[in-house]
Amino acid sequence: MTDEQSVNDELKDLDDDSIDATQARDATQALAAEEQASEIASFEDDESTASGIWNRLLSGNRRFSEGKMEHPNQDTVSRETLVEAQNPAAAVLTCADSRVAPELVFDTGLGDLFVTRTAGPMLDDAVISTLELAITQLHVKLLVVMGHEHCAAIEAACEELDELVERTETESGKHAETFMDDLDGIIEASSSSILREVGMSVWQARMAELTTNEEYEQVHIARIIEQLVTRSEVIRKALAEEKLMIVGARYKMSNGLVEVLSF
Ligand SMILES: [Zn+2]
Repeated sequence: MTDEQSVNDELKDLDDDSIDATQARDATQALAAEEQASEIASFEDDESTASGIWNRLLSGNRRFSEGKMEHPNQDTVSRETLVEAQNPAAAVLTCADSRVAPELVFDTGLGDLFVTRTAGPMLDDAVISTLELAITQLHVKLLVVMGHEHCAAIEAACEELDELVERTETESGKHAETFMDDLDGIIEASSSSILREVGMSVWQARMAELTTNEEYEQVHIARIIEQLVTRSEVIRKALAEEKLMIVGARYKMSNGLVEVLSF
């Protein structure tokens, strides 16, 4: 071997080494990125976190909307396993509408969801106590507050609100424009639950110059969440201690999908 050949070989070795080093660095970076991605994925799929539970429910909803339901936890074994105790993944507060069954919409089964349903939904002491029980006794980490498309409670609240405005105009002899800003006091004093609980949301939406039922449905869910926080110390505490996550949603029966609402 000539000197020149030897130098060339050495250079080649060096070159190979430097390629190896680059490749190794790239591989390490790729591995780190992969680990990070899988950590994020496992966090999002992690049933011990509220986000992971919410992701699972949204996956179930996609299956439902596509007609590819798995109908989990609905067999005899599931029923028997749950006899002694329940450990629901989430609480759902939604409308009593016959077309909005959360267990079906999220493709879940027995023991998966702790469901409370009233028209709208509306809140009262019984509803709030029911949700508090889910948090304190069953330790649910996720509360889904879900409205829906074509909600009859929203439609009824619109009608009752219009009637209230007309009546107030007649009784006071004033035009609606003169008292609309202060109508919340009159709504609050009403004997109608629909008006107090749902009509108030419609009034708020109209005051913000929103006009469609879809917008009223969204505002209603935002206001119900706000009301839950205002009216329940248990919910406030669970949120402050990061033991609970509340999400707002709206179910669209026309395509079967649950929209996630951001406020
Ligand atoms: Zn409804």
